[in-house]
Amino acid sequence: MGIISPAERLLACADPSEPVETGLLSVDLAALVGNWRRLASTAGAAECGAVVKADGYGLGQAAVMRALAEAGCRTFFVANLLEGEIARALAPHGVIYVLDGVAPGCAPRLAAAGLRPAIGSFAELEEWAAASATLGRKLEAAIHFDTGMNRLGFALKDAAEVAVRARAIAPTLIMSHFVSAQLPESPLNARQIADFLSAREHFPGVAASLANSSGVYLPQRPHFDLVRPGYALYGGNPTPGSENPMRPAARLLARIIAVRDLATGETVGYDAVWAAARPSRVATIGVGYADGLPVSATGESGKLAGEAIVGGALCPFVGRVSMDYVVLDVTDAPMEAARRGQWVELLGETIDVEALAARAGTIGYEVLTRLGRRYVRRYVGSQSA
Ligand SMILES: *Cc1c(COP(=O)(O)O)cnc(C)c1O
Repeated sequence: MGIISPAERLLACADPSEPVETGLLSVDLAALVGNWRRLASTAGAAECGAVVKADGYGLGQAAVMRALAEAGCRTFFVANLLEGEIARALAPHGVIYVLDGVAPGCAPRLAAAGLRPAIGSFAELEEWAAASATLGRKLEAAIHFDTGMNRLGFALKDAAEVAVRARAIAPTLIMSHFVSAQLPESPLNARQIADFLSAREHFPGVAASLANSSGVYLPQRPHFDLVRPGYALYGGNPTPGSENPMRPAARLLARIIAVRDLATGETVGYDAVWAAARPSRVATIGVGYADGLPVSATGESGKLAGEAIVGGALCPFVGRVSMDYVVLDVTDAPMEAARRGQWVELLGETIDVEALAARAGTIGYEVLTRLGRRYVRRYVGSQSA
């Protein structure tokens, strides 16, 4: 057993009780479930489903679905067939809607997995009806009406004809989607609710769903029979402009891997977009845009940038966000926290996804769903784990 490989030598050096990662995404499943319960109680008598598309908004579809199913969530929404097949394996008895609808040629596989497409065109309806005829039973589906998004869904003027042709399948849900539910004063909301009501008249006895996260909080309470929150489950603020009623489900930590002192005028990073205006101490953390941190959160001289918490102090990004590194100005942070090996917090209670998004010129949804694949993920707060 004389020679050991470099990999084995590395393993031999690593103390398993010590953290070896530089980026850590901690997902709080108790916060997720708490958010779901809060949305469910706000939605009153309506059922509260869960939108788990895009890998559970970046937090991990499997852990998210298991925790919500255990808490009593019965209805899930995913974007496409492949996400739906994963969802089916995770929730064998759950109701799973596929928001893309019937992608061309996919009806047999959707049916085989017991998925319900959100049908939004006559072409899809025909494929679903054909699959129903082949199987000898009417397949279940949602009927999606377009009330303003102009993205997916039947036109309202076709509602009567859709209702007739939908007799070849089994509609279990009528749905539409808000354009700007996050703006309660927008006149679009009332108009979309009125249009949705008129479409629903053609489907007596079929359950209806209109509200996403922000829709749950609209003053009109457009909850109907089922609400479909996504973002708020994961801690996003469904009521921008007022306090966030949700708890953050994602906490992002990174470790300082180097610290250096700069003289006034020295620059940091590619293209020298930031220069020290005073003698400064800067710390390099081991995460970057490959981990989902937006390049647009770059710290340029004279511009607001992303921030991290170092020993309780908010420390701005300085210099360009690069693939694997961000540099922080830790001049004003406590010395003992701004040391090599210390953890800093990029997202959590203090810096929420909206705060980082605001500094990067994007939306919290994008920050969440881009959280990288390179982090070590820890799931905490689950009842069963
Ligand atoms: C993504 C999506 C939702 C969830 O929206 P959130 O704003 O994340 O709550 C609901 N319905 C449809 C049709 C969607 O595409």
